[in-house]
Amino acid sequence: MSREVHTSSSPAHSVADVSARACALAEAEARLAQMLDMLRQRGMRLTPQREAIIRLLAADCSHPSAEDVFSRLAPENPWLSKATVYNTLNSLLGAGIIQDVDLGVERRFDGRTTEPHGHLTCRACGRVEDFDLPPDLRTLLLNRNDSGFAMERIQVKLVGLCRACAARNGRNP
Ligand SMILES: [Zn+2]
Ligand SMILES: [Zn+2]
Repeated sequence: MSREVHTSSSPAHSVADVSARACALAEAEARLAQMLDMLRQRGMRLTPQREAIIRLLAADCSHPSAEDVFSRLAPENPWLSKATVYNTLNSLLGAGIIQDVDLGVERRFDGRTTEPHGHLTCRACGRVEDFDLPPDLRTLLLNRNDSGFAMERIQVKLVGLCRACAARNGRNP
């Protein structure tokens, strides 16, 4: 029993409300075009809900959770339900159009690239940053061929404290 159960009081560790971080505009536009292409190639229809979610993910560098995606889109899209957000994220994930990272307490999504990459995850504030895998490791992982194992995704996650949380931690006794 190492994990406390948080009830109503909002802990400093607020994993459910990660603030949006905008990506560079050119990068977001290129990624949006790429995701739309992939959707077409896979014969998936561009429904309004898929489009809204794809647009958000292409432009958001924070690795938002399904809850974050829902709360960011809900004000502008009153027809959108939480279930639709979950289902859409899962279908984009299943189609290899987005990636995910499991923080243990929640799952977060990355619509910015399909390239295998690593995640630096802050256990205190829930911040998720990308890092490039060293080319050797990337090649090793992609070409790994254990008998009978059908690899679907690569997840490399480092757990620790982000720069801000580490600094805050250092000031405490
Ligand atoms: Zn942090
Ligand atoms: Zn990522």
